[in-house]
Amino acid sequence: MSDKFIPIKPVNAFTPLRHKAPSAPLNFAPGLLVDQLNRPLRDLRISVTDRCNFRCTYCMPKEVFDTNYQYLPHSHLLSFEEITRLAKLFARQGVQKIRITGGEPLLRKNIEFLIEQLSKIKTLDGKDLDLTLTTNGSLLARKARALKDAGLNRVTVSLDGLDDTVFKKMNDVDFPVSQVLEGIEKAVEVGLAPIKVNMVVKRGVNLSEIGPMTAYFLDSGVTLRFIEYMDVGATNGWKMDEVVPSDEILQILSANYQLEMIESGVSGETATRFKVRSVNAKEGEIGLISSVTKAFCSSCNRARLSTEGQLYLCLFASSGFDLRTLLRSGETDSQIEEHIAAIWSTREDQYSILRGEGGAPHSTTHGNAAKKVEMSYIGG
Ligand code: SAM
Ligand code: SF4
Ligand code: SF4
Repeated sequence: MSDKFIPIKPVNAFTPLRHKAPSAPLNFAPGLLVDQLNRPLRDLRISVTDRCNFRCTYCMPKEVFDTNYQYLPHSHLLSFEEITRLAKLFARQGVQKIRITGGEPLLRKNIEFLIEQLSKIKTLDGKDLDLTLTTNGSLLARKARALKDAGLNRVTVSLDGLDDTVFKKMNDVDFPVSQVLEGIEKAVEVGLAPIKVNMVVKRGVNLSEIGPMTAYFLDSGVTLRFIEYMDVGATNGWKMDEVVPSDEILQILSANYQLEMIESGVSGETATRFKVRSVNAKEGEIGLISSVTKAFCSSCNRARLSTEGQLYLCLFASSGFDLRTLLRSGETDSQIEEHIAAIWSTREDQYSILRGEGGAPHSTTHGNAAKKVEMSYIGG
């Protein structure tokens, strides 16, 4: 921990979901922020809506997210101005990358207006932010050009298989693969690159799609990333038996491909990357995101801002810190910045490591496991 900061002791008496920010560190200095485990703040994920037009069984199961489900009212959502203001303050605290997510972010009306504002923000060393967005791809063909023109650098598209029956079973709204592929092609065409495709692998559901997906994206310039199915949220009925460990995926791939690990050297990277080469000399890159079997908490530099302005320090937290109240109660930029610094400097989250060790997840914000926040609310 930098000696420019006096560490803030974790505060234990939080009200679930409505944390009050701890008081600010005394020697506040932008950019030198680290948490209790010496991790800097570099990556901010911003959820712009809690709604989605898919019902992926691992994220928003139909039985829970049905017509009676209470989504946030519009007045609770951060406005584009509020998001932009916070994003600037986070950039002053060291954030270099912003990912727009949801729910389905392309459902938020005029999302390109927000992108345009965010694209003007500079990092502490005066560089452009790495500005990206994760989408299910359903509206991408229509929106890609406007997003690129607004200043978005690149996109990540989620796609869990190429077989329509398998994909429709996973998105649970009968959405065809072809329209997502069209979206990816459009993103390639307008230059929203490098493009990544995320595939959540669930045993008994889409294991058979690993081969076809790998073959499809060879020689395309698109990186395919296999994600271990996670116990995020409290509604997807997660079972360890349904997780396909990355090692097993590597084994499946090595039957047909030459694989060579790519050393990255980038701190905080979630994927282990491999160069893939087929017998007929087609090449590509894949990534393995082993969130369950090989936790990467020790380099986790990500914070998440929920649709209604709650700051979450971990994907598996059950409560966040209420920045929206700070924004709407007339606090100045430097006061809010100090709150952000104070919150990050108390962070001690490492849920996945502790889960792997069989220990009870512990942190200032991991309260009742049954109340873990949903992925659709804070974004992936
Ligand atoms: N709707 C957009 C999409 O699907 O790309 C953005 C939000 S979604 C919550 C972000 C990412 O989280 C997606 O790539 C999705 O596959 C992933 N995800 C959701 N639930 C997951 C789970 N239980 N385990 C692993 N990944 C999950
Ligand atoms: Fe929607 Fe994305 Fe969740 Fe699927 S993973 S339900 S597309 S938010
Ligand atoms: Fe980061 Fe929490 Fe995931 Fe660990 S479990 S990598 S701390 S978000």
